[in-house]
Amino acid sequence: MKKLSLKLPHGQMDSRSEIWIGHHLPRQIKRLRLGGRNQMGRAFLVIDLVLKHSASAWWEGLRAAGWQVEIRWVRATEALKSLSSLEPIYHWLIQKGADRQSVIFAIGGGTVGDAVGFVAGTYLRGVRWVSVPTTLLAQVDSGLGGKTAVNHSQGKNLIGVFHQPVAVLCDSEFLRTLPTREFISGWGEIIKYGIALDGSLFRFLATHSQRMVHEIFEDPGVAEYLVSTCLKLKKVAVEKDELDQNGVRAILNFGHTLGHVFEAETGYGYFRHGEAVIWGMRGAVRLSVLRGLLSEKKGIELDQFLSSFKIPPLPTGRSFSSRLRLLKNDKKSTSGVLKFVLLQGIGKSVVDQAISPEEIREALRWLSQKKGVKN
Ligand code: NAD
Ligand code: ZN
Repeated sequence: MKKLSLKLPHGQMDSRSEIWIGHHLPRQIKRLRLGGRNQMGRAFLVIDLVLKHSASAWWEGLRAAGWQVEIRWVRATEALKSLSSLEPIYHWLIQKGADRQSVIFAIGGGTVGDAVGFVAGTYLRGVRWVSVPTTLLAQVDSGLGGKTAVNHSQGKNLIGVFHQPVAVLCDSEFLRTLPTREFISGWGEIIKYGIALDGSLFRFLATHSQRMVHEIFEDPGVAEYLVSTCLKLKKVAVEKDELDQNGVRAILNFGHTLGHVFEAETGYGYFRHGEAVIWGMRGAVRLSVLRGLLSEKKGIELDQFLSSFKIPPLPTGRSFSSRLRLLKNDKKSTSGVLKFVLLQGIGKSVVDQAISPEEIREALRWLSQKKGVKN
């Protein structure tokens, strides 16, 4: 079991979050510092319905450790991330008498984490919460960092708060039941950390990727290594830039600017998030080559690696102007200037690169010739 501590200068509730990475964590609940203090209280568990069988260890473990537990099941579709879907959850908390000493647990992937984290950040103006990410994507990325949000009809994640969980508990047991496609989606974020921030992680992935796609389910040590390596990188970025204001956290958006366009234009149902990010990284690599920041040879090497994962093809027949419109709506573009995270080398990224529409057109033209493979 590995432990990291996130220290937060601006943290609203507690000054730190503890991150535990391992397997069979519910057996060790007493060792984990939950709720920000050594006191058991009332735990309100909001759990993804698909975990009906695999999550029982959590409420049993909490009860055995002295917590009084309430449970609510949710369906983890994107529809959960809406104000109207959260209304019954607030209602449940009020009815059950959840108070400021209570702790809310979000047990599920990024969808449950974003939605339930938002509930925790707004109920009674903010109560403590514990993030229990159950997908690979959520364990390596969304489960940590305190970004919570719901969607609006005009766009994704438009309504949200920064609200750090008091603990992030990553248990590799959950990954055993993860479908391959969800696995590859998480893999997309892991690759992002390697390419944008950590050359040695990238070299490790480039050597072991195909083997690990299978082994991560069997060997908890592999999951522990990958999750802890990624979360260490994310922790450093979040500590330096908790509220995403000074550009440090923006590095984690490598591949996301175009990735978000591909997700949005396909209505969020066609790509898994990490799949769209893989396409977005291929585009960002190409832009880096076009800019002369990255050599053609390195660009080809990276593209070959990124094209080795089975993901759906890019949709065809989309107009450049509609993609440009989506890019300009992106939270990261300011006054219509399109900003990208680009590469100067593997593990060496540069933020805030203003890119012209012509360069984007060229990169998209190049991407449109590339194939994806459906699982
Ligand atoms: P998800 O939560 O929708 O989970 C994907 C699928 O896997 C769902 O069908 C879910 O029911 C199922 N599932 C979850 N855990 C499982 C398990 N252990 N075994 C089997 N099936 C399981 O998706 P996700 O990819 O984890 O997260 C995507 C969401 O995260 C998006 O809404 C995205 O906006 C958000 N996100 C947030 C951040 C952040 O920093 N807050 C970062 C990246 C993505
Ligand atoms: Zn992402």
